Order: sequence, then C-alpha cells, then structure tokens
Amino acid sequence: MKQTNEMKIEFDSRACNESFARVSVAAFMTQLNPTLEEVADVKTALSEAVTNAIVHGYENQIEKICVACRIAGRELFLTVSDKGKGIEDIQKAMEPLYTTKPDTERSGMGFAFMEAFMDEVTVQSEPGKGTTVAMKKKIGRSYEMEYQN
Ligand code: ATP
Ligand code: MG
Repeated sequence: MKQTNEMKIEFDSRACNESFARVSVAAFMTQLNPTLEEVADVKTALSEAVTNAIVHGYENQIEKICVACRIAGRELFLTVSDKGKGIEDIQKAMEPLYTTKPDTERSGMGFAFMEAFMDEVTVQSEPGKGTTVAMKKKIGRSYEMEYQN
C-alpha cells in the first residue's frame, strides 16, 4: 500500500499569509525529495489559488482559507478552500484570459497557470457557499525516468 501523510492549515485571508501558505506546503513536500522546479511549480499554483480565494472568494474581507495537503506514494494532493461567494460558471472561469475583474490588475491567467504547473486541477464551487480547488502533481518524475532507463 502507498504510504500517506497529511497536513491541514487554516489562516486568515490576508495577502501576507500567502507566503506562509507557500512555505508551509513547500516544507511539507520536501519529504518527497522534489526538484527545485517541482517546488516552484507547486508554490506558484498554490499562490494563484490562495490569491483567488482572497480577492474573488472573499473580495478582500477577512475570513478563513483552508489549505490541505496529502502525500500518497509520490503524489501530492492539494486543496485550497474558501467559504466565499463561489463561482457561477466554473468552465468559463477556468478559460485562459477570463476574469470577472478586468478593471483591476487581474489578467485571467490564474487557473491556466495552475493547470500548467500541476498534473490535474479540479474546481468545485457553489454560489454563496464557497470554492474548493483540488490539484494533484506527481513528484520526482525525473527520478523515476532515470530509474526506468
Ligand atoms: P489572475 O489570476 O490572472 O490575476 P483572475 O484571478 O481573474 O486573474 P483566474 O485566477 O483564472 O483569473 O480566475 C478566473 C475567474 O474565476 C476570476 O476572475 C473569478 O471570477 C473566478 N474565481 C476564481 N477563483 C475564485 C474563488 N475562489 N471564488 C470565487 N470566484 C473565483
Ligand atoms: Mg486569479
């Protein structure tokens, strides 16, 4: 059976906690012996999801964001959850360049980055209830390839 390990953190939806979340997940995933690039990918994807919870989910009101992390074998599963305003049309929201805040500095690329840097991204959301972004990434692929060859 695959070995598993889990952690969960909850923090206020303040921009200053974004780096806290990034560093926490980066520290937790070191047990997978990731490359620097893999750590950077996960940190970028996590930042995008946390920023979305802050600016869209809670529209800068101070509420709670939960980041849960699970390791199973060489796979890293991440969820970022908010209990904010939710997303009406998830498919549309995930399209590159789609943003509901075009007047700000937002460019609508957050989900595109998450999908580019992680192996799988799924979004569950209900208007008025909140959003959970689940992401998955296999860590140490380069090691496996070396091993196979
Ligand atoms: P960027 O990430 O490039 O700054 P963005 O945040 O608008 O711009 P995405 O991260 O791709 O782009 O998100 C697309 C849209 O999905 C957002 O404009 C917003 O309407 C919606 N959205 C994303 N995350 C959430 C969330 N947690 N709660 C509510 N709406 C969200
Ligand atoms: Mg975004």
